Amino acid sequence: MERSTREAMERVNRSRYKLTRQRSKIIETLVATAGEHLSAEEIYGLVTLEAPDIGLATVYRTLDLLVTLGIIEKTDFGDGRARYELASPGDDHRHHHLICSGCGIITEVKDDLLDDLESTLEREYDFCITDHRLEFYGRCASCRSD
Ligand SMILES: [Zn+2]
Ligand SMILES: [Zn+2]
Ligand SMILES: [Zn+2]
Repeated sequence: MERSTREAMERVNRSRYKLTRQRSKIIETLVATAGEHLSAEEIYGLVTLEAPDIGLATVYRTLDLLVTLGIIEKTDFGDGRARYELASPGDDHRHHHLICSGCGIITEVKDDLLDDLESTLEREYDFCITDHRLEFYGRCASCRSD
């Protein structure tokens, strides 16, 4: 079992919720598709390949629960469907995304270049910043070459 699967399962076990077979299956699917940003329907499609008895409503409920427990993150990239991915363990900062309006590919930005901006805002507005969210929209290299 992958480390991130085990960590996610331990977090459910430490909560007041039980680690049911359905919840384990959905966590495993999200670990296996790390780096993709799947919708609930796409997750449902993958989960039911191995566990055909899991219903779409259960998938929705489980995703909501995993978001509440901080195990996964839910992001709206502006295409009208929420996307889900594992939260980065030990880091409550969400990473940033580049979203191509041509093909829809989502690239994760590994560096956070906003520390200076945050310090400036904190100083100028006397505001203590704890987090930020940021998505960039544009066109990827292969869409621009068409
Ligand atoms: Zn593109
Ligand atoms: Zn992401
Ligand atoms: Zn950031």
